[in-house]
Amino acid sequence: MSATSKIVKLDPRAFAAEIKAEAKRAGFDAVGIVPATSPAGFDNLQRWLQRGFDGEMSYISRRETAYEHPQHVMPTVKSVVMLAMNYHTEERAPVETRQGAVSRYAWGEADYHDLIRGKLRRLADFIHRLCPGCHTRGIIDTAPLLERDFARLAGLGWFGKNTMIINKQLGSWLFLAALLVDFDLEYDSPHDTSHCGTCTRCLDVCPTDAFPEPYVLDARRCISYLTIELRKPIPMKLRDGMGEWMFGCDLCQDVCPWNRKAPVTREAAFSPSADLNPVDAIRLLGMNDDEFKKRFAKTPLARPKRSGILRNAAIVLGNRRSAEAIPALVTALDDHEPLVRGATAWALGRMGGATAVAALHSRLRVEDNTDVLSEIRHALDHTKDIGHSEEQ
Ligand code: SF4
Ligand code: SF4
Repeated sequence: MSATSKIVKLDPRAFAAEIKAEAKRAGFDAVGIVPATSPAGFDNLQRWLQRGFDGEMSYISRRETAYEHPQHVMPTVKSVVMLAMNYHTEERAPVETRQGAVSRYAWGEADYHDLIRGKLRRLADFIHRLCPGCHTRGIIDTAPLLERDFARLAGLGWFGKNTMIINKQLGSWLFLAALLVDFDLEYDSPHDTSHCGTCTRCLDVCPTDAFPEPYVLDARRCISYLTIELRKPIPMKLRDGMGEWMFGCDLCQDVCPWNRKAPVTREAAFSPSADLNPVDAIRLLGMNDDEFKKRFAKTPLARPKRSGILRNAAIVLGNRRSAEAIPALVTALDDHEPLVRGATAWALGRMGGATAVAALHSRLRVEDNTDVLSEIRHALDHTKDIGHSEEQ
């Protein structure tokens, strides 16, 4: 007997209820089930890619056609179980001038992928016990699936103008995950209404103008993309807008009225670590490869690697213009990573003053990377235009 013929005998309604109850027991805060279809959002994805809004994230366009239907991820898929986990913890701590802000999702010690993967496995094991021979596949950012579209179709929330899924009870601090299964279940209704109304707070607050229009994000201008995904120097015209954001950015969610009463997560692993909300950017700038690996290898901060994180730290320190950062920046100007040296040169240019200028001239004499040379020359030009210095 095939797996499907066994499964058909299970009551889709009762089975859906069992799956939802187990998902809640496993720690998910919302769950909805939807048939595996081609989501309307696929057209939006194609338009988004055509406009080049994915920047350097070529892994999206490389798999473009796979997003068209979940069967490209699991050929026998019939239903998509959409899951959401609330990661809202305490409020953001004030950020001092030697510190950088980290996006809320990365405050805990654990990488959420690992944590949620474990919960997906638990849910899959539960399903396999009830339905031996069926097939399942868990997805947490790992496969081409339009999670937000399926979340809306499964009734978990609506698309805010900031492009996030917003749930009326939970707000938008949500990790989304999916479990694909090869049998039919009772399905939920889509969330067809929007509750943004005339509000435009998220669009107005964005410091880098990353929303060309409501519901559309130009990732190339978004601080989350710039500080986490981009492996190159951050475009100069966007560095000011980064302000204190060293890893990701939460501004367009922080201002959302639907997050005002967001409940606190039930998951202890999301509790903020003392040194991540916020992070000491000066200390970070002094970390060598081993120290960085030891501290961050298991956290989301590992994704941009040491070179990306130190690049971001230098830019934040340049934006904060704190004189106490100058010694660390001078040292980082000799870092073995050109990405770090370039951003550090820019930061020293923002600081100005005799120490910064002397360090820039000194590096100029030995630097052999053309990108870094250009950053140093630009920084020296900038110091001529400013009066501020640590000696004043
Ligand atoms: S995360 Fe920050 S930079 Fe990105 S769109 Fe939202 S407010 Fe703008
Ligand atoms: S800030 Fe306003 S417009 Fe933006 S997502 Fe929230 S409710 Fe919608």
